[in-house]
Amino acid sequence: MSNRFDDKVVLITGGASGLGQAAAFQVAKEGAKLSLVDLNSDSLEETKELIRKEAPEAEVLLITADVSKEEDVKNYVKQTTDRFGKIDGFFNNAGIEGKQNPTEDYGSDEFNKVVGINLNGVFYGMKYVLEVMKKQGSGAIVNTASVGGIRGVGNQSGYAASKHGVVGLTRNSGIEYGQYGISIKAIAPGAIMTPMVENSLKQMGGDNWEEAGKEFVSVNPMKRFGKPEEVGSLVSFLLSDEAAFINAAVIPIDGGQSYKY
Ligand code: NAD
Repeated sequence: MSNRFDDKVVLITGGASGLGQAAAFQVAKEGAKLSLVDLNSDSLEETKELIRKEAPEAEVLLITADVSKEEDVKNYVKQTTDRFGKIDGFFNNAGIEGKQNPTEDYGSDEFNKVVGINLNGVFYGMKYVLEVMKKQGSGAIVNTASVGGIRGVGNQSGYAASKHGVVGLTRNSGIEYGQYGISIKAIAPGAIMTPMVENSLKQMGGDNWEEAGKEFVSVNPMKRFGKPEEVGSLVSFLLSDEAAFINAAVIPIDGGQSYKY
C-alpha cells in the first residue's frame, strides 16, 4: 500500500483504546506523525509501545486531556501544532456509552456527562482544529457518531442525543468549511468489539456477557461484531486525500444493521 500519510500529521482523541487506537495503528503504518489524546495516560503509553512495534519510524506525541473541558481541547490542539506545525487529519472520536436506562430513570447528571464528552467534546475539537485547518487551506475531519446517532436504539437518552448531535454538527460544519478545502465527515459504527462494547455487554448480561454478545449479534445481517481494524481502515481512507470529496456525509460501518427493517 502507498504511504498515504507521508509528511502528514494526524490528531486522534480517544487514541488509547478501541477505534481510536486502531485508526492510530493504520495511519502510523501509512506514514503519519501522530498526536494521541486520551484521559488515560497509562493506556496512551501502552499504545505508543504497540505503535512502535507496527510502525517503528512513527513520531508519536501523547497528550493527557479531557475532551469535555474546553481549555484541555484548546491545549491539545496547541501542543500538536507546537510540535508538528500543522494538522492534516483529525479523528474526533473520544466518547463513552454511559449507563443504560429508560428515559425517566436515565438521570440528569448522567445525561449531562455523556453529552459533555460525546457532543461538547466533538464541538470543541472542531472549533479549535478548524482554526488551524482554515489557515492551512486543507484538512480532513472524521467525527465518531454511531448507529445510535442515526436510529433509535433505546435505553440510551444521553448517547442518542449526543450521537445525533454529532451527525448534525458534521452536516452543518461540512457545509461551512468545504470552501476552504476541508472535508468533515462522520462514521456511524454498529457494534464493534472494543472495551466499550465489552462493558456494555457486561451491563446487559453480567457474568454471561459472552452469551449476551452472541444474542446481540444474532440480529446483525453478518452475524458478528465488527473489528476495530475494520473501522481503522475506513477512518484512514476518510482522512486521506483519496476521500477529499466526501464531505458532510455520515458513513455507516455496521454489517448492514442500520438498513434492516
Ligand atoms: P473505548 O472505550 O475502547 O475507547 C474510548 C477511549 O476514549 C478510551 O481510551 C477512553 O479513555 C477515552 N475517553 C473517554 N472519555 C474521554 C474524555 N472525556 N476525554 C478524553 N478521552 C476520553 O471505546 P470505543 O469503542 O473505541 O469508542 C470510541 C468511539 O466510538 C466513541 O465515541 C463511541 O461512542 C464510538 N462508537 C463505538 C462503537 C463500538 O461498537 N465500539 C459503536 C458506535 C460508536
